[in-house]
Amino acid sequence: MEIDTGAREIVSAHRELQAIEASLNDHELRLRLITDPKSVLGTDRVLTAEVKRFAELLIGNASFRKGLQENARATVEAFGLRVDPFELRALWDGKALREGSLTPQDLQREGILCLNAFNELKRAFFSRMLSAVSSNPAFDAWRHRQIARCRTEVDPVNASAIVHAPATFELASGCSVGCWFCGVSAEKYRGAVSYEAIRDDWLATLAALRDELGPIASKAFLYWGTEPFDNPDYEKYCLDLKAVCGGFPQTTTAIPMRDADRTWELIKLSAREGCLVNRFSILTPRVQSETMARFTPAQLLFVELVLHNRGSLMVKAEAGRARNSRRLQEDRDFVTVELGEYASPALQAARPSTIACVSGFLINLAHKEIRLISPCPASDEHPDGYVVFERTSFGDGREAAARLRELIARHMPMRLDATTALAFRGDLSFASEPDGFVLSNAFDTIAIRNKAHPALMQRVGGLIHEGRWNAEAISVALRGEFGVADAQARGLLDLLFDKGVLRERTAVPAPI
Ligand code: SF4
Repeated sequence: MEIDTGAREIVSAHRELQAIEASLNDHELRLRLITDPKSVLGTDRVLTAEVKRFAELLIGNASFRKGLQENARATVEAFGLRVDPFELRALWDGKALREGSLTPQDLQREGILCLNAFNELKRAFFSRMLSAVSSNPAFDAWRHRQIARCRTEVDPVNASAIVHAPATFELASGCSVGCWFCGVSAEKYRGAVSYEAIRDDWLATLAALRDELGPIASKAFLYWGTEPFDNPDYEKYCLDLKAVCGGFPQTTTAIPMRDADRTWELIKLSAREGCLVNRFSILTPRVQSETMARFTPAQLLFVELVLHNRGSLMVKAEAGRARNSRRLQEDRDFVTVELGEYASPALQAARPSTIACVSGFLINLAHKEIRLISPCPASDEHPDGYVVFERTSFGDGREAAARLRELIARHMPMRLDATTALAFRGDLSFASEPDGFVLSNAFDTIAIRNKAHPALMQRVGGLIHEGRWNAEAISVALRGEFGVADAQARGLLDLLFDKGVLRERTAVPAPI
């Protein structure tokens, strides 16, 4: 199939997708795709990029949405898009969606297929990040336990987007942007960390991270409650991370237009150095239109727009500063009404409660502080949507290395500690069943059953539910009542531990 009508701009969507897929592993090709698509595709029109921008405008721009209903062709032209809106009806024609009048052809248009295939490629990339393995077995077991816990503790749509990066660095004290909805309650900006002053300690800390975690350290990145571009040397830190740990970090900036030339240079640098996806957090309608005017759809093919501006349908997380705020409620009311027109019931029901994406180390170079963290739903206990298992400080790179080792040793046992009383997570309600037990919360129901040994499984659940017995005491009880060998009993308890259903974040006093 051919697309477009310009004689010199004909390229098959299939060929375009092949080029995009090949560019995921060929950084020079990716750079050419965004800087000079004609040299790759024979045309400067990248259908996937045009449709991606169409979808971003659909989500992020209320007048684009309204214009589509009134005069679709004129609206698409006014926003500078080179697509036929009626080829993309499946994305925006809410009435046809609701009435089921879309045809199979509507769902199979090239533009729709390109966007879906592109999103699938990115999903596959992120799932590789999730399944990345650390060469440190204790860290690996701990991280995968946090991933398992999040899958059943956090809203499923929210949980599926968390990559559980192993570490992040803050290169400043606070953030200069000050978003009202900041999900991690960033502090007021007090200055960036001088690269020259911190260089030796920074490099030593990076080396320690690599030595402790192995290749997974390449998945670290360089912001949290901080804005990357607040640090004038941000790019130097990125290159160091690549040189020491093997990966150029993904960037999310909320100020892409503060210095658009710098932003463009970073996009090109990160493509050249092997980073696949960056993100712009768009805070206002003005920044949205300036960004789209400054950068072509092709230039932003590998940049995701996180549309936080007024008029956007993107749902903000109820975490950090947004938590319990009136503005969030107003925002959500607007989104609920507007989303009814377009989105699936699952998307409409999404209620993200965390923006945290690290299960590992949060290292602030300004305060010389390390926190061991992992995402969770924001609550009174964890208002910023992540658990802090421990917070510690360091004086120099050598001490940072020691602190990393200590945190791993203290918090990442390969097996359950025999002397700590076991309990199920506080968000899970327990129900005994004839052949085992069921744990449930607002998002999931986890059934633990064994038809061959129903009474045994029921008893295990009951003992843990009491919250008074440690692994040793439970093993003794199972040996006495059912003749179960200690190793088997401990194996069963370790399995529940690995599934992330046991309470891990606060110690329960052992009564025995
Ligand atoms: S959301 Fe990001 S940019 Fe906004 S205040 Fe928080 S850390 Fe800064």
